Amino acid sequence: MLFSELAHYFSRLEETTKRNALVEILAELFSKTPEDEVASTTYLLQGRLAPFFKPIEIGMGNNYVADAIARAFDADRTVVLQRFDRLGDIGAAAREMAEESGKAPRPEDTPDVRAVFDTLTNIATTSGAGSIERKVGDLATMLAQLDPLSCMYLCRIPVGKLRLGVGDPTILDGYSFAKVGDKSLRKRLERAYNETSDLGLIGETLWREGIDAVDRLSIQIGNPVRPALAERLPSAEAILTKLGPAAIEKKFDGFRCQIHKLGDEVRIYSRNLEEMTGAFPEIADATLAQVAAETAIFEGEALAYNPLSDEYLPFQETTRRRRKHNVADTALELPLRLFAFDVLYIDGDNITPLTYTERRERLQTLIRPGDTILVSEEIVANEASELITVFNDAVQGGLEGIMAKKLDSPYQAGARNYNWVKLKRAQSGELQDTVDCVVIGYIYGRGKRSAFGVGALLVGVYDQERDIFPSITKIGTGLTDAEWREVRERCEPYVSAEKPARVESLLQPSVWVEPEVVIEVLADEITRSPVHSAGMNGEKQGYALRFPRLISFRDLDKRPEDATTVQEIVEMYGKQGAKPVPA
Ligand code: AMP
Repeated sequence: MLFSELAHYFSRLEETTKRNALVEILAELFSKTPEDEVASTTYLLQGRLAPFFKPIEIGMGNNYVADAIARAFDADRTVVLQRFDRLGDIGAAAREMAEESGKAPRPEDTPDVRAVFDTLTNIATTSGAGSIERKVGDLATMLAQLDPLSCMYLCRIPVGKLRLGVGDPTILDGYSFAKVGDKSLRKRLERAYNETSDLGLIGETLWREGIDAVDRLSIQIGNPVRPALAERLPSAEAILTKLGPAAIEKKFDGFRCQIHKLGDEVRIYSRNLEEMTGAFPEIADATLAQVAAETAIFEGEALAYNPLSDEYLPFQETTRRRRKHNVADTALELPLRLFAFDVLYIDGDNITPLTYTERRERLQTLIRPGDTILVSEEIVANEASELITVFNDAVQGGLEGIMAKKLDSPYQAGARNYNWVKLKRAQSGELQDTVDCVVIGYIYGRGKRSAFGVGALLVGVYDQERDIFPSITKIGTGLTDAEWREVRERCEPYVSAEKPARVESLLQPSVWVEPEVVIEVLADEITRSPVHSAGMNGEKQGYALRFPRLISFRDLDKRPEDATTVQEIVEMYGKQGAKPVPA
């Protein structure tokens, strides 16, 4: 396929405000895509050259892209930068320059998707002395061969601004519709996706070898597995009634790490499947020293630890370790400990089908004693009082609460179900758990707050079935001035002139925001609401959060699709009011 044709699809996707229409356009695109371009087209749709977990970055900011545009169209760099200032989009600047140069080729005479993808990959892998010059040169050569619309989309990729608002489940639906005309393949595609996290691999396998081959894709070292997640229940009794005798572990509030070991090589992935190895050197070193297997995939929670006071630090402190600069200094100041709680793969064997009890035994022998990686402690509780003892102990130690795990359950990648149940401490008058929301808009304030450009946030949750973000509440109070400023800064790159296609809201904010920024919110209660769209789907009333307040920014470790789902909200609504432990 010509890149100019793909650019047309990008433009149709960008203009679309309905999720079903996105799926239709994707299905049409994929049905015309040759099998050897399905993977690259998929990554390009996400503005990338590889799946999210591969840290392949193009490494060119607006200024270098402006250099390339100037070179491609014999223009002055300052003219390009002026356009960029005026339009706020380096892609739009490229399009104008290409149109005005009068030199742009006709779309049908332009390079194909493969050529553009290969050029971008070359640019991304060029490093060392003189590499910037070569990157600019290669991008300029490609721009000179493309039509104006293609130039626009191409230039948005290096600067990370190709935002088409297409989520991973929407792409899976697009595959299914392209192949069979409905979404009946979605479940099978989703299983492969949960285990490999690589949409391009799944698309390519589907096109080359068919759906049965997709069914054979499974956990492999180097592909992060989408993490198993926990459900909620309101009390110790409810947990034991549902799970039977259950393993009880403390719930640590740090960063979830999934660690892959292949011989001497270690990769650490975050909960949102980003590679974080470089930020956590002591965990990588400890894996080599403490893991008794050639190959392994295991999971744990990393917490910052103060070696002087011998205390674990709260989440906000631990987040300082995610910064990518000064890693060595911060590692000395805030060393991490990892509480390993599950194992998925050992020496060539996928052990996710084993029971929790069997996996724990394997974990105990996998991790050798040491200072950095500790196997999280567990007890098996038959009685509520045993669970409550661990819960109180955890809360007294400043931890969040407990995780209860069903003894005979497998590890189910990407699933949130009652194999794992969390029980968190709560103040009276609060919901027992925070809700992870996605910012979808903001409303300008009056008075003091207008100085920060935001008066209230409109936030949504994730409707997993429909892959959209319906509104659930407005947050107008409880943020410090610094937090308002931070919200504004984080949302700025995602401001959208129109309602984004995957957002659903009856309320019209002053400014729409692409669903990208995840915040953790604590509310007093969930109420039914005629105003908010979460859970409305055909019914008259949706659900809303009452008295919501911001607890933390979670966009470092959660992608928008990791936000709390509508289904969870409905379940939390049904379980309100119970106390986790008797007063
Ligand atoms: P939440 O993010 O509130 O849904 O809680 C689930 C998260 O708790 C997991 O993703 C882990 O990051 C974290 N966690 C902390 N301690 C444990 C544990 N012992 N077992 C499993 N997950 C844990």
